[in-house]
Amino acid sequence: MQTLNKYLKNEYGRKLYKLALDAGFSCPNRDGFISYGGCSFCSEAGSGDFAESNLSANETSRSIVSSTDIPDMIENAKTRLSKKFRPTEGEANYIAYFQSFTNTYAPVDKLRELYEAAINHPDIAILSIATRPDCVSDEVISLIKELNKIKPVWIELGLQTIRDDIASSFNRGYKTETYDDAVRRLNKAGIKVITHVILGLPNESEEDMLLTIKHVIDMKSWGIKLQLLHLLKGTRMAKEYEENPFHILTFDEYLNLISKANEIIPDDMVVHRLTGDGPRSLLIEPKWSTDKKRVLNAINKIIN
Ligand code: SF4
Repeated sequence: MQTLNKYLKNEYGRKLYKLALDAGFSCPNRDGFISYGGCSFCSEAGSGDFAESNLSANETSRSIVSSTDIPDMIENAKTRLSKKFRPTEGEANYIAYFQSFTNTYAPVDKLRELYEAAINHPDIAILSIATRPDCVSDEVISLIKELNKIKPVWIELGLQTIRDDIASSFNRGYKTETYDDAVRRLNKAGIKVITHVILGLPNESEEDMLLTIKHVIDMKSWGIKLQLLHLLKGTRMAKEYEENPFHILTFDEYLNLISKANEIIPDDMVVHRLTGDGPRSLLIEPKWSTDKKRVLNAINKIIN
């Protein structure tokens, strides 16, 4: 496997920083187009709890921002990051990451407006767009293909698992074959795909999780994000857990999984994440994941 930092160092000669943006999109799995309620683990912020937003937290009052809002959002996200990092002056040091909810769920003209505002910003080196595989129409792909000529565009697909029965128990709202089809079409268009996988979903065995990773490799997804399941306050999954507790991965079980994943992930696959961040104020389990230093040190020992 190749970590994202290593990949960026090779390609750009430096570290790039992700600016997580909430552009006010909704999600068809939450607004009733596919279903109401969304995936049962998904937080109120649409899995974008750290994203820069100029919207109210109230989902019913969400609306897509205007392209003229994008430079301000980028600036605010940069200011937030500057407390932690000091990127090199004068270079395009950032990845604009449309993170929250489903970031291709709008008419293509609107998508073009927003994506162009981000990709043409002088501080942005890469555009990354998180979405659902059933929201990647051919029209969306041709827009991304066009923008990909300006600067690289990555598409991040939330797969989580290949077990359709588990996926339907957390209300993913599409079958694994829809993911396969989207990856094939994106690969054909030369667009880099990053697949999100959750480790620790209720009723999944270690073998199931490794089979999902294997499938993502076989589909030739360019990158993978392994995300430890975070049980967050206010989600349906948290309520289900309260009523009927299920197994939460222990620290050792997680490390063991990462070690097995490390054995099967090919050298050229870019690993964008090996754990994940849950907002501390919302996290119910696993509590061990709040000790980030310990987790990252242990993971680094495995992969290096
Ligand atoms: S598709 Fe994404 S935004 Fe929509 S409910 Fe599922 S996790 Fe949340």
